[in-house]
Amino acid sequence: MARRYAIFQREAAGLFVEKNNVYNNVFVEYGVVGIYVRIRDKIATLFSTHRTESDESVVEHFLDIANYALMGAMIGHFELKPGQQCEHLYAAVNGDELGERKLRCIHCCNEISY
Ligand SMILES: [Zn+2]
Repeated sequence: MARRYAIFQREAAGLFVEKNNVYNNVFVEYGVVGIYVRIRDKIATLFSTHRTESDESVVEHFLDIANYALMGAMIGHFELKPGQQCEHLYAAVNGDELGERKLRCIHCCNEISY
């Protein structure tokens, strides 16, 4: 089961990076109350629709809820505040198909090539 869990952890992490690159850390602006609202809305959607647990949209909602929970935990743990500059902590990520090497900040997902 741990291996299956890890599969969804990676999936959730990929979704977070993908969406956060578009929304540019806006979750910090929402604050924890904004996070509660988004989790509540996701749960309300799950309650209001009649889908099976294997429905992909249900799976996606659960992954979104997991990511919102982690965003809330990050806001609290790292004391993230709107407008705060990130103290980047870069880690190597796989380069693109052209072989470009990249570093990605583990906090804000900012990427730099080298
Ligand atoms: Zn950063």
